[in-house]
Amino acid sequence: MATANGERTYQFKALTDLWTGSVALKEKNGQIKEKTGPDRLITTGLLGSIRWWFEVLVRGLGGGTCDPSDHIRCPDKDGKRCVVCELFGCTGWARKFRFEVLDENSGTKTGQIKQNDTFNLRFTPLRPICDEEWALLDATLRLIAEYGAIGGKTVFKPTDEPSRTGETHHQDYGIVEIVKVNPRITNLNVTEVKKYVRQERWRKPESKAIDADFAWASLEFFWFVKMKTLTRETTSASSFNKVLGRKESKTCLDCGQVHNPPNKCPKAKRHPKRASEQLANSNDEISRWLAGSQQESKKVLSFKNPARTFGFVKPGLIDFDTMKRRLTKVWGQSGWDFLTGDKIIDQLFAGKERCS
Ligand SMILES: [Zn+2]
Ligand SMILES: [Zn+2]
Repeated sequence: MATANGERTYQFKALTDLWTGSVALKEKNGQIKEKTGPDRLITTGLLGSIRWWFEVLVRGLGGGTCDPSDHIRCPDKDGKRCVVCELFGCTGWARKFRFEVLDENSGTKTGQIKQNDTFNLRFTPLRPICDEEWALLDATLRLIAEYGAIGGKTVFKPTDEPSRTGETHHQDYGIVEIVKVNPRITNLNVTEVKKYVRQERWRKPESKAIDADFAWASLEFFWFVKMKTLTRETTSASSFNKVLGRKESKTCLDCGQVHNPPNKCPKAKRHPKRASEQLANSNDEISRWLAGSQQESKKVLSFKNPARTFGFVKPGLIDFDTMKRRLTKVWGQSGWDFLTGDKIIDQLFAGKERCS
């Protein structure tokens, strides 16, 4: 198998602002120890997001990955790594590439990336990167651009701002499009990449993957709807909360009024506790999972402009049909397509199956 040693550059256009500030908050909470400047913040945030979607893709192709909680990352007790750590690095094994975020003129990008900005992501191999790894990275970037979003707020991770969980879903962050790729990636078909991620040499998942907390974060359980959005219509109506199974009203639980951020409740003298942060039915386990608790992420994300809505289901708790029924309640029966992860895999590796 030939290895490519040259750098590859993806040129993106930001269709919304990108949010790369969450690393700073984590730093404050002592979760990230290294000192980071503003440039470092952007690269760390974007690379973390790319790695997260890469894991989603690898699991969706039937590959094992380590547990994203840092303390159980690779290597395992036999010194084996998973496919993701092989490329992105882990304890005792450096990342195989240098990652840079560049502006239009190939200077280092500083400051936040704003809507309509053009920027480049440059991957420079530091050690050989095989064709399968390039193909997976390429598919990950197309997955993000065509079906997902990039940046701190758009990864399904615990929120960094627990007091504001109810407010951020309707803000658009992290939608990008790929303008060009230089040079093009060697085309591989889905059979070839599946074979690669399932090789014997990779670390085996510790327990049955389906039991793990992060097992839902797989393309196998991902769904996507193009050109549709879930939003708050009024202070008392929110199609987003309806789908999540939360109460729709924004009213303050302490005084019954509506306070818009950053206002505190004049009665309770604190950030308002809203009805919309509570489940409509507290015994509804599906809604509890979809809405996420204060320490977990929501499992549905929706964007207004450009409009797209996507999320995950969880085996044994909620399947695609149940999710689709929830969406049908707010969007009606027709005029939208519910695309599932297996179809997305076909599209990411479309037309590349060799006939011979
Ligand atoms: Zn790993
Ligand atoms: Zn109040």
